[in-house]
Amino acid sequence: MNQCPRAWILKYGFAKNRGTFNRHLSNIADWSTPWRLMQRALRGVIIERLECHSKGRAWIEIDLASKIRNRIIGAISRQKSIIEVVEARIGTLSSLRNRVRDSEIDRLVEIACLRFHAAMKTEPISEILNGKIPVWYLFSRLDKTKFGEYQLHIAPDIVWFRGKTCHLMRFTVQGVPNPGQDRIIENMAMVNWAVNRQGLPYKADRYVVCNLYWSRGRWNKWSKRADSQIVDDSYKMIRKDMKAMIDLHNKLGESCDLSQIPLASSKRVCRNCGHRDTCPGGEDLKRARLEQSALEMAKASKL
Ligand code: SF4
Repeated sequence: MNQCPRAWILKYGFAKNRGTFNRHLSNIADWSTPWRLMQRALRGVIIERLECHSKGRAWIEIDLASKIRNRIIGAISRQKSIIEVVEARIGTLSSLRNRVRDSEIDRLVEIACLRFHAAMKTEPISEILNGKIPVWYLFSRLDKTKFGEYQLHIAPDIVWFRGKTCHLMRFTVQGVPNPGQDRIIENMAMVNWAVNRQGLPYKADRYVVCNLYWSRGRWNKWSKRADSQIVDDSYKMIRKDMKAMIDLHNKLGESCDLSQIPLASSKRVCRNCGHRDTCPGGEDLKRARLEQSALEMAKASKL
């Protein structure tokens, strides 16, 4: 939401209203660049590799590149219908319709394969695969967890035990710099998920929260032991964020006036956005932001 409140509203703000148009809005928001699709494919094959191991199924290494390629090509093909909807709305060719050359797909597959092999050598994945970590579980981020009055996606990707300590970890496949304190606190929400699950410790200080993330050409991992104070801080921070989202949603008002909703913080965000054909920020973010603030000032002067 911080990167572009308008994109966030277009994705989630209309989700409760059923209907084709709202479904289209959500699908357009899910549109991703080939680079993002590569990252998603990479995440998918890492999980698939771990699932094979947990179920005792054979993993055929020579199929890796074709698995990644199929995931990327499948995702590009599924996005065609989204582009057709956008073109029907704007009555011309969409800027999302860039032909992805075979050589670009080859390059993405190569990058994903390199990152996959590097991931297999990192802890805890390497130790899971060689049996040094015998007690571990995979979970789906799509699982929703009750968080006060909200239902949130706060489950980890992998849980494992070392002695009495329970580790909760998420992958972040896109390049991110070293996580700041806010991100660490946000990740502590995984402890809220864990303490309410049968079979996992109920005390916060039995957990170590980790994040495996790709940055500067390699996998990096940070980890931090939880305690009740930091888990409480995380609870408060997420509730504050949820309130900010609800306030933003309320700003839409009965007439769903999108002109009130702030635009992206930088042009870079618009380049990855499926709404860029139909949003003033997608055409000229600087001018659109100026027009928006002029509109707000004009409205304020009438009050
Ligand atoms: S095009 Fe830019 S400003 Fe408009 S919704 Fe997308 S990210 Fe936000």
